[in-house]
Amino acid sequence: MDDLEDLYREIILDHYRSPRNRGELPTPPAHRTEGFNPLCGDEIVLTIVLDDDVIEDVRVDGHGCSISQSSASLMTGAVKGKSVDDAKVAMRTFKRMLTVAEEDDLDADEPLDVRKLGELAALQGVVKFPVRIKCATLAWNTLAQALAEMDA
Ligand code: ZN
Repeated sequence: MDDLEDLYREIILDHYRSPRNRGELPTPPAHRTEGFNPLCGDEIVLTIVLDDDVIEDVRVDGHGCSISQSSASLMTGAVKGKSVDDAKVAMRTFKRMLTVAEEDDLDADEPLDVRKLGELAALQGVVKFPVRIKCATLAWNTLAQALAEMDA
């Protein structure tokens, strides 16, 4: 096990044990979306508040495996305070890292630079365990669903 994998494991465990932006925002004004990964039993409740095109606040509640819950915590940290467009770029980059890019991904021809993902890069080892990829993408797919429901 090399140092980088040790660091990544530490980041995942840290976010699992001390999840960031945990809980639910009051609705309204927040929009509430639930996500479920039946393969693993992971559940996510995402609440989000937009201010124009900026993600003013986002919280995640739920339960499931360490990959799903740490990925949700990492996701909130990556998109909170960012524009919806920037969040979508991060989502596409994250999915490309896990080899589940959308077919209409406009960035697909550009070289993938996982360093742009910051701590999210800690989840790149999941690609070696295909059954866990849906755990890692659950929070992002729930975010995408929420943004679609809000026409954002
Ligand atoms: Zn899971």
